[in-house]
Amino acid sequence: MRFFDTHAHLNDARFDEDREALIESLPSKDIHLVMNVACDMQEAPKVKALSEKYDFIYAAVGMHPHVAGETSLSDLDAIARYMEHEKFLALGEIGLDYYYDFSPREVQQKWFDAQLSLAKQLDVPVILHIRDAFGDCLDILKAHKDGLRGVMHCYSGSYEFAKLCLDMGLYIAFGGAVTFKNAVKPAEVAAKIPLERLLLETDCPYMTPVPLRGKRNDPSLMRYTAEKIAALRNMEVEELAEITFQNGKQVFGIL
Ligand SMILES: [Zn+2]
Repeated sequence: MRFFDTHAHLNDARFDEDREALIESLPSKDIHLVMNVACDMQEAPKVKALSEKYDFIYAAVGMHPHVAGETSLSDLDAIARYMEHEKFLALGEIGLDYYYDFSPREVQQKWFDAQLSLAKQLDVPVILHIRDAFGDCLDILKAHKDGLRGVMHCYSGSYEFAKLCLDMGLYIAFGGAVTFKNAVKPAEVAAKIPLERLLLETDCPYMTPVPLRGKRNDPSLMRYTAEKIAALRNMEVEELAEITFQNGKQVFGIL
């Protein structure tokens, strides 16, 4: 069985103690591809270094909505330069987060819009982080829908909104949250969307699935999420792993 963890933060400080050992153990734990995401320009060089060291680790960079207030035009130039690197395959995560509101909403919107324009100009897929902001997100995405490619990461919205995302050509990724007892909506969406648009992710070190909730998450814990979604869809976990593995390669353009 092989899994693609389509969203991880392996450069998070919580992996400082055992990062290399953990990464080297992943293929023996069925994790054969990882998209490692840098949330700002400080993290980007570290994400680049890991992608250069390990064949099976790819890279993404974007200005997260949490740091939108610190974003500048020079960051867009820096992102564009990273996208020339052969292991950087996506621009993200970008989006809107009205749950935490760490940056003013109009500032989040401005940089979300600017980074979507950049992704189109560079012809790269985007990784979208949207929390409690689906209405404004939809307005901005609609303005960029021509040529839009990418992933709705850690999906937490309704089935109706998921359908709009699918109509715009997006893939939908689910992580540990689908295993949470109160996660009725994401589980419903994970059960119903077309299999060819479904992705698996961990968002590690966050979003640890049940039964390990509360501990540090890592890519090898993907199987708990996969088992839950496979059960919801009444299919074998091996089949779900393989289909979502291929979906991930497709959306990020890995040949
Ligand atoms: Zn993330």
